[in-house]
Amino acid sequence: MAIETNEAPAREKSVNFLEEIIQESIAKGETRVQTRFPPEPNGYLHIGHAKSICINFGLAKKYGGKCNLRFDDTNPTKEDVEYVDSIKRDIRWLGFDWAVERYASDYFEQLYEWALVLIRKGLAYVDDQTQEQIREGRGTVSEPGKESPWRNRTVEENLDLFGRMKNGEFADGEKVLRAKIDMAHPNMLFRDPILYRIIHAEHHRTGNKWCIYPMYDYAHGQSDSIEQITHSICTLEFDVHRPLYDWFIQALEIYPSHQYEFARLNLTYTLMSKRKLLKLVQEGVVMGWDDPRMPTICGLRRKGYTPASVRAFAEMVGVAKRDNTIDISKLEYCVREDLNKVAERRMAVLNPLKVVIDNYEEGREEQFEAINNPENPEAGTRRVPFSKVIYIEREDFMEVPPKKYYRLSPGNEVRLRYSYLIKCEEVVKDAEGNIVELHCTYDPQSGNGSSSDGRRVKGVIHWVSARHAVEAEVRLFNPLFTKENPDDVEEGQTWEDNLNPESMVVKKGYLEPSLREQPVGRTVQFERVGYFCPDTDSTPEHPVFNRTVTLKDSWAKINK
Ligand code: ATP
Ligand code: MG
Repeated sequence: MAIETNEAPAREKSVNFLEEIIQESIAKGETRVQTRFPPEPNGYLHIGHAKSICINFGLAKKYGGKCNLRFDDTNPTKEDVEYVDSIKRDIRWLGFDWAVERYASDYFEQLYEWALVLIRKGLAYVDDQTQEQIREGRGTVSEPGKESPWRNRTVEENLDLFGRMKNGEFADGEKVLRAKIDMAHPNMLFRDPILYRIIHAEHHRTGNKWCIYPMYDYAHGQSDSIEQITHSICTLEFDVHRPLYDWFIQALEIYPSHQYEFARLNLTYTLMSKRKLLKLVQEGVVMGWDDPRMPTICGLRRKGYTPASVRAFAEMVGVAKRDNTIDISKLEYCVREDLNKVAERRMAVLNPLKVVIDNYEEGREEQFEAINNPENPEAGTRRVPFSKVIYIEREDFMEVPPKKYYRLSPGNEVRLRYSYLIKCEEVVKDAEGNIVELHCTYDPQSGNGSSSDGRRVKGVIHWVSARHAVEAEVRLFNPLFTKENPDDVEEGQTWEDNLNPESMVVKKGYLEPSLREQPVGRTVQFERVGYFCPDTDSTPEHPVFNRTVTLKDSWAKINK
């Protein structure tokens, strides 16, 4: 796949197909727009969910409608309040708020009543077959299924058995409630789908009240209908479920919500499966759901992403009807664009080389005024201390420079950002010949952009006063996987073999002192280095900074 980088975001496209559908309804006089975001609280939200959130909340906002938050909590064994809380936090962080907060479990009573309606209509029955038998009886795409021996139970018997299922008289797996549709239906989902199964487990909201739980297909559309959702938007793999979604609504004669499908978001070098992400967390491969390498919303937040950058990304990739994979560099482009506008600039050295300024007095100290954000004059200035010994980046010195190398080299002069011109006089090496420090002189007349005789110096490098520097742990992140598609595996390997051993590289950095107080969540640009923010592990005694993104897209080039 071609790697596209730094491409400009698409211009405001006319309208996407969902907007088209809504505009058509509005034109026909159906002006109410009610959407919902329906996460299952079985994990943390990822960037794919962010896209779904932006679509659902975005459409409601655009057309003066409402968007509900509905937790699809029908699997008691996999769900937890920890996930509920994280989901709410992430949606709010993205900048959205829901009209009402609902749970599929709020509707358990109603769903149960509706199951009785189906039984009475002769459209549902209790099946005693084992899971295995049910699966075998379903047939294949080319062969019809086999009817269950329990399919023709009387309404009375079904009502009695289903009531007893609900009352806990049977063990897990002993019985299920199935819709009675058509065992030869070309859409396999219509071959008497299971509506309820028995699970004796505590639910995070309903406790032990229920021991029968509705299946997704039975719960989802009816929940939409109860909330009078006008546009039930989900991902493409549910298109085969749509006829069944409609079947229940018709059979029950309830509010007709409609389902629309869009392509799910996939990103290169990462995975969106909650099951696999959970595995990485449980096995300690990452530091948690909010590890900055994770594609989760909380991971992006911890890494230093802004909500605006995530929303811009969702907008940029648009709403598609066909599955595709978006290059991760597009997400990085969006965060760079936003941070360039909003992030304050600071100086930090990650690969230090000590520089002693011989003609600067020992013990002297002065402050230089530095601009916080050239893109935003309102961000003001700050003062950066300077003294006799400073650190510069090793890459900013070359003993034998090539032509057009404007940074520091023996006998050459360079501007220290916001400060003096210095000239390299001597290179000090250890026994092995490694450069350990430089001796320089400075031009005392050259502070703040001037020089003693008006000479022009091309190179400008960043620096940090050694005496004032804050030492910090700096975590540099690379993609979590080495393959564009982590599921692309060799014979006998798994997706976990594609984990990138260099996904996190830890360094010691030297930061200008103002960064000691940098609040978590406020990303800055380390000038000439990249964007960084304090990690949640950071303390004033042990500052920890995460690299949010590099200044330019370097990874894609190296790995071409
Ligand atoms: P699981 O991985 O457990 O199957 P899921 O990813 O489908 O779950 P849900 O909590 O069921 O997660 O998803 C909530 C909503 O987010 C659904 O409407 C779903 O279609 C949407 N969604 C999930 N993943 C993506 C994705 N990669 N791109 C766009 N939308 C997504
Ligand atoms: Mg799902």
